[in-house]
Amino acid sequence: MRSWPVPVDVHAPITRLKGVGPSLQVTLAKLGIFRLIDMMLHLPLRYQDRSTVTPLAHIRAGEEYLVQAKVVSCQVVFGKRRSLKVGIEDPSGRAHLRFFHFSKYQQDNLAKQPYIRLFGEFKFFGRELTCAHPEYEVFPEPPAPPVPVLTPVYPSTQGLSQARVRKLAATTCALEWPSETGTPFQALRQLHQPPANLPPADLEALQEQVALEELTAYYLVMKGRALQRQADHARALPRSAGLGRTLLQNLGFQLTQAQARVVKEVLTDLEKSVPMLRLVQGDVGSGKTVIAAFAAIRAAEQRCQTALMAPTELLAEQHFANFSNWLQPLGLEVVLLTGQLPAAQQRSRLAAVANGDAHVVIGTHALFQEKVVFKQLALSIIDEQHRFGVYQRMALKDKAEETLVPHQLVMTATPIPRTLTMALYADMDVSVIDELPKGRQPITTHALPENKRPQMVQAIAKVLNQGSQAYWVCTLIEESEELAATAAIPMAQQLQQALPDFRVALLHGRMKSEEKLATMQAFKAGEIDLLVATTVIEVGVDVPTATHMVIENAERLGLAQLHQLRGRVGRGEQASHCYLLHNNSVGEAGQVRIDAMCASQDGFYLAEQDLKLRGPGDILGSRQAGEQSFRIADLGLHAHLMPRVIQRGDELLTALPGTAPADERDNLLATWAPADTGHLTV
Ligand code: ADP
Ligand code: MG
Repeated sequence: MRSWPVPVDVHAPITRLKGVGPSLQVTLAKLGIFRLIDMMLHLPLRYQDRSTVTPLAHIRAGEEYLVQAKVVSCQVVFGKRRSLKVGIEDPSGRAHLRFFHFSKYQQDNLAKQPYIRLFGEFKFFGRELTCAHPEYEVFPEPPAPPVPVLTPVYPSTQGLSQARVRKLAATTCALEWPSETGTPFQALRQLHQPPANLPPADLEALQEQVALEELTAYYLVMKGRALQRQADHARALPRSAGLGRTLLQNLGFQLTQAQARVVKEVLTDLEKSVPMLRLVQGDVGSGKTVIAAFAAIRAAEQRCQTALMAPTELLAEQHFANFSNWLQPLGLEVVLLTGQLPAAQQRSRLAAVANGDAHVVIGTHALFQEKVVFKQLALSIIDEQHRFGVYQRMALKDKAEETLVPHQLVMTATPIPRTLTMALYADMDVSVIDELPKGRQPITTHALPENKRPQMVQAIAKVLNQGSQAYWVCTLIEESEELAATAAIPMAQQLQQALPDFRVALLHGRMKSEEKLATMQAFKAGEIDLLVATTVIEVGVDVPTATHMVIENAERLGLAQLHQLRGRVGRGEQASHCYLLHNNSVGEAGQVRIDAMCASQDGFYLAEQDLKLRGPGDILGSRQAGEQSFRIADLGLHAHLMPRVIQRGDELLTALPGTAPADERDNLLATWAPADTGHLTV
């Protein structure tokens, strides 16, 4: 009897894999690995060449080697720290291994087995060439020559050794993968287990092949949305009561020409019964919020509701304040929905949304949960869209109100080079606000080493004395609000001590919503002089009277983030200054970024520099962390693939006329989207 291999279900939970129990499942979840496909897409960061054995005599300190040797001694030594010292020898020379943590089993095993194969970095310990904590295997006889493969080094997390991840990846690769699912399994397998003689260029080509598939999937999903949109219907929102004109008169400033043009583009879209899907791109401070307000007013005039989604609670709260200011005088009701409301308030606000009393509903992505029921949703606005991640965007579903879908307006400050726009926003029309409001003063940017912090504090004291307000931003390398908060808290205390005559306050993401809101309002009202904050203030915070900003650890931040942060000042008519405090020794790339920041305030220029800086580097190594990135593709490395993505994508679309775009979209999403993307329904 013959049995056929049955392909695995690529979406099966990772526990399907041999050896993955509940505790390993929890650890893997931290890496975003929930399903078999996630493990397959968990690609190495880089590779180590462990295919050649290096004689001990050829070893140089500071590098990693594969060594095969005889174990000649094994003893516990008591120096500064107790350790296990192992002497090894091959025909060419001698060296030592050291283990500062070791088990009895390990000790016995090393003493008993005469041969060892190890991999690790060697250093001088006094005069002895020593490898601390190598990866190793012991053998009763001289081991066979190593198998010629490049050993992958994977992104990992606490409690998960490289050896373990490697084993899991190997087991995953050995499964019977289906042949036609839109995922390049062959290429993925080779990226996990490349032959040692594979030239680096071929590795790059393999990576490109996978990136091309991913980008094409993304393009198809977006194109599918665009096609579907043409066939969908939205509520046409023609002009009627002229409330927009009243807002224009009440604003207190004149729209820039660019703003006026974009408002017109948006309102023209809204008049049609084809659903709008428009991206408004404009640098920090170019005035995107007010565009959203005009659109919301148009919907309200037609007794329809608008949902406005912001990436952070802080920004949602600020939008709530602005929209209330602008819309309440027009007799419109604005409601804020955040995660942390008391139950009774939450209920009454949800009721206002459901019965149609609320014209504009503002919130974070909590807004798009099932339980929020709208009476007549005609417009969805997503602010700072880049914060939501490409896969969250792919997963957006148009929640049809009966047969009508909402118009969508998407706003972003991320300047995207033209070539990318076409592919990344294949589903959208694009409006650009290419002008800042009049009277904006340029922001002067200065770089200072950390040891000048005392002088920095004095300079800020002087500024505050003149009645200005300032931010002091504490940043850390990790995107961890928790850690950043622990840095900000003592910093706020120190600064308050150093500046006893001024009101110093603290703002970080771990604070309760009401506290955050109260602090922000007090800062806006001028009741706080210096706001010590984490990067929670990065998006959207708008306090025009704040004119100075100090950014800690500036050398560690990317240009895009520095530019966003700096955009919090320079919003009023006073000259503004930004100080980049950096480590006394800045790496080369850090220096280039700091120089670029000091030289330019142009978001497009800085974005270009950013792409250049992130050039090839390690194979796969420059892949960015964070949810806004693709899983494999890196826009810094793969922008040149875009024309091919578009061409292939369009070919595939014409070849698949029978497939319902929505089904196709679901298939592609199921394969590529991380399992924890969540489905946002807009
Ligand atoms: P962003 O594009 O970064 O979202 P905002 O919408 O927050 O910018 O606007 C930044 C600041 O500029 C706000 O205080 C806003 O009220 C103000 N503003 C917007 N448009 C104009 C304008 N045409 N003239 C003067 N100030 C403006
Ligand atoms: Mg904004």
